[in-house]
Amino acid sequence: MAKPILVANWKNHPGSLSEAGVLLKQLSGSARLYQKLSLFIAPPLPYLESVSLRTGNFAHLALQDFPASSDGTHTGMVTPDILKSFGVKLAIIGHSERRALGETNDSVAQKVKAALRSGILSLVCVGELSRDQDGEHFEFLREQIKLSLAGLNRKTDISKLALAYEPVWAIGKRADDAITPADLSQSVIFIKKVLVDMFGRTIAERIPILYGGAVEPVDATALFGGTGIKGFLVGHASLNAKSFKTIAESLIRK
Ligand code: PEP
Repeated sequence: MAKPILVANWKNHPGSLSEAGVLLKQLSGSARLYQKLSLFIAPPLPYLESVSLRTGNFAHLALQDFPASSDGTHTGMVTPDILKSFGVKLAIIGHSERRALGETNDSVAQKVKAALRSGILSLVCVGELSRDQDGEHFEFLREQIKLSLAGLNRKTDISKLALAYEPVWAIGKRADDAITPADLSQSVIFIKKVLVDMFGRTIAERIPILYGGAVEPVDATALFGGTGIKGFLVGHASLNAKSFKTIAESLIRK
């Protein structure tokens, strides 16, 4: 069975390379635990090398985003091919904080194709802005998934694709405000149905769905158990080595 997937989205933290060094040292103390997972760390770009040097035996490098480029020369742009040559294995694409700055479903779809061409695993973020009793948010989700994965087909290398279900209303909140396991299960079933409609059952079943949004040590076990997800995308709790370790443990405890 595939290992659970854990992705740390450090965003614009820690605030300095020396603070990142402290966090990396703490994380490496749990290297044996992390080896039981597929762990990816998405640091601010200038920290890539430090992260790679200190976590090479237990974590892979990931990107928080990358520019959608076409052929030609692009001043100021760091393309997926360059980043891949640094050992990057996964790219978070379409995070809600990027969408809030103007990222569209269309640019997400272009980036997914660029990442697939470079052999980088695409972790495509989707999630409703708010949840309503009538289930309107499911329509939003269906549209977002279809448009974000537009242009992919059954022949695409789906082994390089994963989805992160991140309801925007839960991101950056505390565990008490996170989604309930029952609601998460419902959303995961819905997402799987959309993927089956797009790619057919056999392929859709191979696309892992992760959850992100206020995952903390206190809610990780309940959110992982029986909800159909294959792992977590973690924001603020990934910056605290102790919290992150507890979240990792929840993924391997059966
Ligand atoms: C995120 O921003 O991807 C995220 C999941 O954040 P948090 O864990 O802080 O809610």
